[in-house]
Amino acid sequence: MKTTLNTQLNADLHCHSVVSDGTLTPEVLAPRAKANGVELWSLTDHDEIGGQDRALAAARALSMPYLTGTEISVTFAGHTVHIVGLGFDHHNSNLTQGLRQTRGGREERAREMSDGLAKVGIHGAYEGALKFAGNPELISRTHFARFLVESAVCQDTSEVFRRFLTENKPGFVPHRWASLQEAVQWITQAQGIAVIAHPARYRFTPNEEYALFTEFKNHGGQAVEVVTGSHTAAEAQRYASTALEFGLAASRGSDFHSPDESHTDLGSLPFLPSQLTPVWALLADRIQ
Ligand code: AMP
Ligand code: MN
Ligand code: MN
Ligand code: MN
Repeated sequence: MKTTLNTQLNADLHCHSVVSDGTLTPEVLAPRAKANGVELWSLTDHDEIGGQDRALAAARALSMPYLTGTEISVTFAGHTVHIVGLGFDHHNSNLTQGLRQTRGGREERAREMSDGLAKVGIHGAYEGALKFAGNPELISRTHFARFLVESAVCQDTSEVFRRFLTENKPGFVPHRWASLQEAVQWITQAQGIAVIAHPARYRFTPNEEYALFTEFKNHGGQAVEVVTGSHTAAEAQRYASTALEFGLAASRGSDFHSPDESHTDLGSLPFLPSQLTPVWALLADRIQ
């Protein structure tokens, strides 16, 4: 299989389907990626690999090279961090069990979120959000956001997050996810590579961020997202330097969720800066 192993590759290694909080199925995402020129694709649903066989089959039918993927929710220094896993064996039982454990507790959290929203006069949010969840085990803040837009409480999902679903807002419920060490080890023990997702999105102090990168490396993490739909050009530049400083490979992914909500479509990103080692160079033998 011919895949360019340098940075000049239209790789999209971060997106979501109905198996987590995206609105499109793997079978619809694959041709959309292909039509947008994606040369290497990965579906990275939150805490869930139930869509991997479907995504792989859809990619194969289009002769589009594929890497297995997921995005694991982690609690680090009191904040939620996302760790993307790429190129793992998706039948690995440690990984499968770890993800199942991470998914557990979402239903209870969702009920508490709904109680919080009821206190400010928004009723039936649990049932409302559930209608939007293709996979009830993965009920997430995104599904609540879609319900509040549908109910005309807010104009768009960003407004919902700002007013209701972030820290100290009525629908926010703190949650303990996997540890950084667990997430990195589940991925690496399944022959995959762990990637820090969208680092500019976290509200860490410089010391906390340094600790995140240091501990991530110590646990066996090998890459960081540099070019993503949730980074500005300046943020991409900044994390290109961080990748070099920590000796990490670089990843690239749109974080596409939905044609109606996502600003960055599949495959529509600048290339990685050429001085970086692309994560796909480390995963050549895992590309399917
Ligand atoms: P959860 O895993 O339930 O905490 O939901 C997290 C998801 O919410 C993320 O993966 C994003 O898809 C979405 N999200 C988080 N913050 C925002 C925001 N400010 N605007 C829109 N979507 C967001
Ligand atoms: Mn999401
Ligand atoms: Mn994320
Ligand atoms: Mn994501």
